[in-house]
Amino acid sequence: MIDETIKQNLDDIYTRIKAAAEKSGRKAEDIKLIAVTKTVEVDRIRNVSEYGVPDFGENRVQELLEKYDKFDEATKWHLIGHLQTNKVKYIIDKVHMIHSVDSFELAKEIDNRAGKTGKKMNILLQVNVSGEETKFGIRPEEVNEYVEYISRLKNLLLRGMMTIAPFADNTQEIRPIFKNLYDIFIDIKNKRIDNVSMDYLSMGMSNDFEVAIEEGANIVRIGTGIFGKRNYPQK
Ligand SMILES: *Cc1c(COP(=O)(O)O)cnc(C)c1O
Repeated sequence: MIDETIKQNLDDIYTRIKAAAEKSGRKAEDIKLIAVTKTVEVDRIRNVSEYGVPDFGENRVQELLEKYDKFDEATKWHLIGHLQTNKVKYIIDKVHMIHSVDSFELAKEIDNRAGKTGKKMNILLQVNVSGEETKFGIRPEEVNEYVEYISRLKNLLLRGMMTIAPFADNTQEIRPIFKNLYDIFIDIKNKRIDNVSMDYLSMGMSNDFEVAIEEGANIVRIGTGIFGKRNYPQK
């Protein structure tokens, strides 16, 4: 069953991604779209893979596991929500990248489990730039310490950083948050640390992805903008 609304939404998102990318001197192909599929039924998600979007994001382990088998190997799953250490074992051989590394314990556990699968795991450090208490993520001041620690864990590949900005009606207000993380990202990138490859800056959601791209994001995570409003609230 083809859902025309979803296809139109994707067309629209890609047009907007392209415009924002060009504003920051880049091309549409430089920006990776992750379709955030949380709470969305499998039949509706299929529209997105048929459209040619291979990257899906889920923020809960249970939901990711329920959907995982329903899609083929071309699908790349991204764990974008807070991950409890005791759940790493369930997803370690299923996800392409974990965006939400926010503690030493979690990094260590992912490293342990990845070691057993024989593959390095791509991870991003989640940084709570705004300092909002309701958000997970390490503080900007802790980034250096984390990068150093993770660079010594042999089964992890630190690929970049992720943030979630506070909700804002006027997205210009949160521009400095994206800029701040971009500066930190470039600073680490320029240090050329072994085992650390600052390729991805995952920032921007339905409400704010254009501003995020303008400030340097190259991964955007979009749910509502593709699938419409979620049926039930989910944190
Ligand atoms: C839900 C979620 C998104 C997508 O949010 P939308 O506003 O629906 O685009 C992006 N990132 C994370 C971490 C999420 O939990």
